[in-house]
Amino acid sequence: MPDQSADLSDLRDQLVAANHILVAHRVLDAFGHVSARVDEDSFLISRNLAPGSVTADDLQLHHLAGGVDSAERPYLETHIHAEIYRARPDVRAIVHSHSASILPFGLTDTAFVPVMHMASFLGDAVPVYDQRDAVGDGTDLLVTDEARGRALATTLGDRTLVLMRGHGSTAVGGSIPEVTFRAIYAETNASVLLATLPLGSPVALSPAESSTATASIGGQIARAWNVWRSAID
Ligand code: MN
Repeated sequence: MPDQSADLSDLRDQLVAANHILVAHRVLDAFGHVSARVDEDSFLISRNLAPGSVTADDLQLHHLAGGVDSAERPYLETHIHAEIYRARPDVRAIVHSHSASILPFGLTDTAFVPVMHMASFLGDAVPVYDQRDAVGDGTDLLVTDEARGRALATTLGDRTLVLMRGHGSTAVGGSIPEVTFRAIYAETNASVLLATLPLGSPVALSPAESSTATASIGGQIARAWNVWRSAID
């Protein structure tokens, strides 16, 4: 029988590393968060703490049925994670960020499309969640309850990333290294797209190119993760 406590220890270790890697890459700053699914009913995420300060002792186990195995205050936006895990059984890790280069694409009609092979996982234009459409005007833009979390998960659909108008973005993946890779390269793709737009209309990856590139580059994620991880140790 596999030693599940060893697996959980590895997951906690990876989750702490992802917090620090994403701060080093300016995807997270004093805000934003990363989580990892443990099983069909629960996920791990830090207590309400700046990602750069997160240690293994700060991780809380949240149950999708409700309840947290900790008395410490959770993040206000834990509902982002709970509702996406509920809606997407395939998702095993989530990054929510306010990273600066992606934000403009949630504010205009300019589509956030993949313009480089490393961001081929974006697929077609990325969907935009506008909280006014979901729950009405006058919110603080934060996803602080189940209804907002469900609306965000609905906008995400079966995609890898959802933009959040005036707020940030949320990336999902099948593992902590994969979602870390996606969050970092989504931000890089946004920087490249911002540099391209003043020069003319960008040529996005075609759906066929996105599909082919995602299949081949998916095998390279461990290489990126190992380099990023060694840089923060
Ligand atoms: Mn937020």
